[in-house]
Amino acid sequence: MDSPAKAWREYPQRYRLEAATCDDCSKVLYPPRLVCPKCGSKNFTTTVLPRAGKVITYTVVRVPPTGFTEETPLPIALVELDNGARVMVQIGDIADPEQLSIGMRVRLEFRRIQSDGEAGVIFYGHKAVRG
Ligand SMILES: [Zn+2]
Repeated sequence: MDSPAKAWREYPQRYRLEAATCDDCSKVLYPPRLVCPKCGSKNFTTTVLPRAGKVITYTVVRVPPTGFTEETPLPIALVELDNGARVMVQIGDIADPEQLSIGMRVRLEFRRIQSDGEAGVIFYGHKAVRG
């Protein structure tokens, strides 16, 4: 059974952008994993990711996945944060995908991402906005 303490332990990496930095090869893993995919190490140090970065590439989803009720088209970007970690995030404040460009500066903000209408559950996560 899930205890409040377990839920609390799982809270940081999802909400505070915690990543794991490999002690042996310095690769930054987000979300954290148990084994480094680059060198096989199991030794990590927890790092909090920077919130600023730039767009490496992006795509526009025109048919949204189930549960994404709000925005279509839905711009999704691969963002390289200032420490080199890459995260896949929704773009939060750009309605017109034509305004997106490779290399543009963004910062990650905590926003509502998805809502499940039937259960009334709302999911939160990070979205990128112009930085
Ligand atoms: Zn490694």
